[in-house]
Amino acid sequence: MAHQFPALTCEQKKELSEIAQRIVKDGRGILAADESVGTMGSRLKRINVENTEEHRRLFRNLLFTSDVNLNKSIGGVILFHETLYQKSNSGVPFPKLLKDLGIVVGMKVDKGTAALAGTDGETTTQGLDGLAERCAQYKKDGADFAKWRCVLKISDHAPSSLAIYENANVLARYASICQQNGLVPIVEPEILSDGSHDLQRCQYETEKVLSAVYAALIQHHVYLEGTLLKPNMVTGGQSCPQKFTPEQVAMATVTALRRTVPAAVPGICFLSGGQSEEEASLNLNAMNRCDLLRPWRVSFSYGRALQASALSAWVGKVDNEKAAQEAFLKRAKINGLASLGKYVPSGSSDSASSASLFQPSYTY
Ligand code: 13P
Repeated sequence: MAHQFPALTCEQKKELSEIAQRIVKDGRGILAADESVGTMGSRLKRINVENTEEHRRLFRNLLFTSDVNLNKSIGGVILFHETLYQKSNSGVPFPKLLKDLGIVVGMKVDKGTAALAGTDGETTTQGLDGLAERCAQYKKDGADFAKWRCVLKISDHAPSSLAIYENANVLARYASICQQNGLVPIVEPEILSDGSHDLQRCQYETEKVLSAVYAALIQHHVYLEGTLLKPNMVTGGQSCPQKFTPEQVAMATVTALRRTVPAAVPGICFLSGGQSEEEASLNLNAMNRCDLLRPWRVSFSYGRALQASALSAWVGKVDNEKAAQEAFLKRAKINGLASLGKYVPSGSSDSASSASLFQPSYTY
């Protein structure tokens, strides 16, 4: 916002908006590979692979080296602290490898959730202490964007106004600190899909949460052109008896976004939130085909919905690396097409890509 104490110089703004636009250019999206050590542990456990630093490196190596043309569909990759300082099998530091492919490097910078006492199990997200120093160091070490995940939930008593305003404010503080240090903040207010609520309730709560988030970002003088939004899609709750089509999800989601997300925001990159790989792609495709004007790029920042088939194909074996890479590339390409509304499903999706990836009260 123009005012008498500008937060950023023209050069800083230019750099931030160019980074944000590069990440989502021409149907590109984000690979969220920033699972914490603990979350990676539960992923690896499912395929009977021990959660060691080397196994985590091997899987990420497999993803990042899958194709020299990976940047046709993946514009940015989010890393966890450990991964930023690891190297590929051939000794290239991961941030250099990704940058050489033309992919922007991002970092998870939050420190996880903490309970908000006196609420129905709601949380805020920690990590503001030392954040400016961490951001400055990550920028020096090759990162150009960051992610901070806030978590909200829907129940009879949630999301409460305390949780909505606390999380909006902490996201705005984080975004402001990132921009001061040259990192584009991905603003992620995730409403979990746990619950039996219907599509309408999810749309209503998503509009409430997003409008609070943008009120806080504007109040904190965050430069919106240099941010990306990572929201949940508007869907029915996991245990809602009624099922909704991708067209219904798309209409509810784009309606909620149009009502709350300023046109200055260059891109909206959805999280997959426990949807199956195929569901996440079909919903994104439907959003980009729906008959409502969209002033921002509508794309993806998937974790589970880009990696699940690859993990199942890999199971920790060198001989399976090629098949795992192919599984990952298949999802990356499909989501790249879906971000342009050009995905035409073949009609026969395999069982791995249609399996639900939902985990109750998901932590990252
Ligand atoms: P999912 O796509 O697996 O929901 O995770 C994306 C993410 O980065 C959550 O912060």
